[in-house]
Amino acid sequence: MRITFLGTGASEGVPGIFCQCEDCKTARKLGGRELRSRSQILVNQDLLVDMGPETYWKSVLYGIWLSRVKYLFVTHSHCDHLDERFLGFRGGWFGKDMAEPVLYGYGNEKAVEQMARRLEDSQFDFVKTASHFQTLHSFDQVQAGSYEVTALPAIHNPKEECLLYLIKDHEGKEIFYATDTGRLTEETYQHLEGHHLDCVILDCTLGNKPDVGISHMGLKENKVIKDRLEAMGVTDRRGRYVCTHISHGTGGFEYLSGAAAAYGMEVAYDGMVLEV
Ligand SMILES: [Zn+2]
Ligand SMILES: [Zn+2]
Ligand SMILES: [Zn+2]
Repeated sequence: MRITFLGTGASEGVPGIFCQCEDCKTARKLGGRELRSRSQILVNQDLLVDMGPETYWKSVLYGIWLSRVKYLFVTHSHCDHLDERFLGFRGGWFGKDMAEPVLYGYGNEKAVEQMARRLEDSQFDFVKTASHFQTLHSFDQVQAGSYEVTALPAIHNPKEECLLYLIKDHEGKEIFYATDTGRLTEETYQHLEGHHLDCVILDCTLGNKPDVGISHMGLKENKVIKDRLEAMGVTDRRGRYVCTHISHGTGGFEYLSGAAAAYGMEVAYDGMVLEV
């Protein structure tokens, strides 16, 4: 399974859109891995998790054909994770010769409602038929082509049922994409019992700050999850732990990578590709 990190930043991006803190000034000066667009991943070439505001430009930058994406899993409706306006350009003269004429989108009620409204608002019939949606709740499992995907609960925004995703491919490779969220629920740990994860991607909005995250996490909360999943046998020595959804003010890529490495974890950067 190939995982491409199209974006690895928190909602305001790094540098923060309106921020002039020292970290953001340094990020602008250094560029490269210090720049973080809004978080999303592409699995292989056909499954996208989240479709944030940089989706279009990231596809151009990394040479990704978005028309090959057949499945979209949305974690929640926050604007850094879902910009449903992109769906208005599927098909017709906007999207000719699309590899996948229908996109199957999954998400919570709010996300599906937003995406469906975008289609309803379109004046073009081809847009209305180019996407199909299904609402998911925590612990729902769907078969998306050869992928088996399970929605798990996030602790993030009480106003909607934010979801995390377990994604298993036809070879049995399985990853857990867990942002945006605070610590995992007991039910989530129970569900993970017996699974064998090749990669765990965790919300690390707070970086190495001493703050305790509730609706987001930092390295310390990530380490708690890693220790527990390892003790449960859900991951073994080869299982990778990757921190993402990182905010500004967290010390920059080198610093955070060093801090994460001490815990046996890696820090994602925009454009990073993992083969698991
Ligand atoms: Zn977010
Ligand atoms: Zn800043
Ligand atoms: Zn959020």
